[in-house]
Amino acid sequence: MTDGDADRLPTGVRSIDRLLGGGLETDSVTELYGEGGSGKTLLCLEVALRVAREGRWVLYVDTEGVSADRLRAMAGDDLDRLLKRFLISTPKDLVEQSRAVATACALTRDGKRPVGLLVIDSATFYYRLSLSGDDEDDAREALAIEVADLVATSLAMGVPALLTNQVWRNVSAGTLEPLGGSFLNHTAKTIVRLDRLSGARRRAVLVKHRSRPEGAAEFRITPTGLDGGPG
Ligand code: ATP
Ligand code: MG
Repeated sequence: MTDGDADRLPTGVRSIDRLLGGGLETDSVTELYGEGGSGKTLLCLEVALRVAREGRWVLYVDTEGVSADRLRAMAGDDLDRLLKRFLISTPKDLVEQSRAVATACALTRDGKRPVGLLVIDSATFYYRLSLSGDDEDDAREALAIEVADLVATSLAMGVPALLTNQVWRNVSAGTLEPLGGSFLNHTAKTIVRLDRLSGARRRAVLVKHRSRPEGAAEFRITPTGLDGGPG
């Protein structure tokens, strides 16, 4: 693995980068799914800060409303400089989310800023809320449009798209399954499941990849970010 693979964006978490063959593919969508507290948001922020440190822009759609606080904890003294490279949008419902993703894709494609990463965390928070109501089909369609836009933008511009997905418990199979229907899970070229182990320990499981074998990597949550062990 080299840090500078042209077609990979290192996450900065060494065990995960080894698992991914260097990092995120730069021309496709990577999906992270896992239960609450498994580290999805922290991994997004870790990659995002790395991109900002390199002077490229991060377009971050944040449905949880927490990324700015977490960024503060993880960025250290560099926070003000790094935040200038972030465009964070905080949609409050499905419609605002669709608009935010469309805007992020358009800004990436217009090429006025050197965008290094698109993040949608979480892609399925509002989708999940809609599942018990009448607007489930609308939500599924909106999500499909967003993901298709991300796929096309990433491929055209060579900018990785990272989205997080929540889970539902399949009681009979005893598994945690990603939300978002088959469209989302077919469209993401790389799918990583994050598992909680004991304490601060977490595991990343490579569920799907175009060119890597299935496998797993461990990492730890620390006060300043994620630690994937020595290189
Ligand atoms: P959700 O589905 O709820 O959004 P998530 O997968 O995004 O969850 P994260 O928010 O990335 O999960 O990770 C949260 C985990 O990290 C929790 O277990 C929390 O206790 C831990 N955590 C967060 N900040 C720190 C910190 N500064 N020091 C230690 N642990 C932390
Ligand atoms: Mg989260």
